Amino acid sequence: METNPTRIAEILVGLPAVNILGVDDVDGEPLLIHIEARVERPRCPRCSGGAWVKDRPEVELVDLPAFGRPTRIVWRKRRLIYACECSTASFTEQVPTIAPPRGKMTDRAGRWVTYQVGKLGRSIQEVADELGADWHTVNDAVLAYGTALVDDDDGRIGEVAALGLDETLFVRKGKWRSKNWSTSIVGVGADEARLLDVVEGRSAKGPSEWIEAQPKEWRDGICFGVLDLSGPYRKVFEDTLAHATQIADPFHVVKLANTKPDACRRRVQNETLGHRGQKADPLYRARRLLTKAHERLDEKGEAKLMGLLRAGDPHGDVRMAWHAKEVIRSIYEIDDPQLAATFVTELAADLQDDSFPVEVRSLGRTLRRWFDQIVAWHQVRYSNGPTEAINNLIKRVKRIALGFRRFRNYRIRALLYAGRPNWDLLPTVTPR
Ligand SMILES: [Zn+2]
Repeated sequence: METNPTRIAEILVGLPAVNILGVDDVDGEPLLIHIEARVERPRCPRCSGGAWVKDRPEVELVDLPAFGRPTRIVWRKRRLIYACECSTASFTEQVPTIAPPRGKMTDRAGRWVTYQVGKLGRSIQEVADELGADWHTVNDAVLAYGTALVDDDDGRIGEVAALGLDETLFVRKGKWRSKNWSTSIVGVGADEARLLDVVEGRSAKGPSEWIEAQPKEWRDGICFGVLDLSGPYRKVFEDTLAHATQIADPFHVVKLANTKPDACRRRVQNETLGHRGQKADPLYRARRLLTKAHERLDEKGEAKLMGLLRAGDPHGDVRMAWHAKEVIRSIYEIDDPQLAATFVTELAADLQDDSFPVEVRSLGRTLRRWFDQIVAWHQVRYSNGPTEAINNLIKRVKRIALGFRRFRNYRIRALLYAGRPNWDLLPTVTPR
């Protein structure tokens, strides 16, 4: 059993190579543990001459709670100056095992908060409250260790056969709540996906630059580019991965088709009633039923939908758009690629018929424009689950953070939570 009080204090504080100078214990305040580093004085890198201590400023660092109580390490640092004439500038000692340069938190607390926020998905504020620290202190540490964890690990991205691009809204900013977009770059596997990175904007520029910055062998290994129905992402794949077969993500095709009954409903409402939908209007009452998948409507639901459409949809436009959406969903029930191609060709032509409402004709044009990408899915059948799963993880991160103001915060938090970093490396990374 250890009985030496100095040694006991060192064991409890648990920091390597420090002397405990004392403890301040004031009720209702964080516990203050005063330390100094037990390290050799540095020598001049040029002449190996000695250095002398100019003064001893104190730096207060947020540490892990001690016995459930918020704790600060008060580090009496040495500000030194070389005795030789090589340099006359003073400098402050740095001991990364205690805290990173300019850090406001001990090294061990920085790694701990990164795990709590990044891996466990806790909010910055919740973790800050537990440490009795402010939000910025914790956020800075998560960024510093988190960036190192995701960006300094060459093995994180790994081999990817199918690369997916997906736009994600990361914040609404300013007076007009204008939308700030980002692009998720996803490695799509047969039944799971990995978030590889997030870049700003949803134009071709960000993802193109990201892809071009990857090693050539990695790019050559990509056989498929999975995309939503967006022109910019199509351009990304054409410009940077021309050899890859493009596949339209079924999730996005169905999602687009799903917007049509609603758009059509609003137009018909305006035309027949002269105003936007109101509570009692039959079409307005049908709005939820319209977006439901047909097989999820029970008999009663279907009867109700048809009744509402008869009452509020004199030319059958909304009913047509609803039907078109259902037919588009059925594209993905076809097994045979050849059959699927024939089906989509005919469907694209049918939907563009002059007699159909404008929303349906636009779906027909989309099918024609994206024909290759849509039917390519039947060759490989990447399910739509993976992209959706990543979207859901990102949504969770955004909800916990109550939205992100800065892109860098968003990127690191999304990658820590959904990018599957190698957490085994956390104890060894050098914070940025
Ligand atoms: Zn010197």
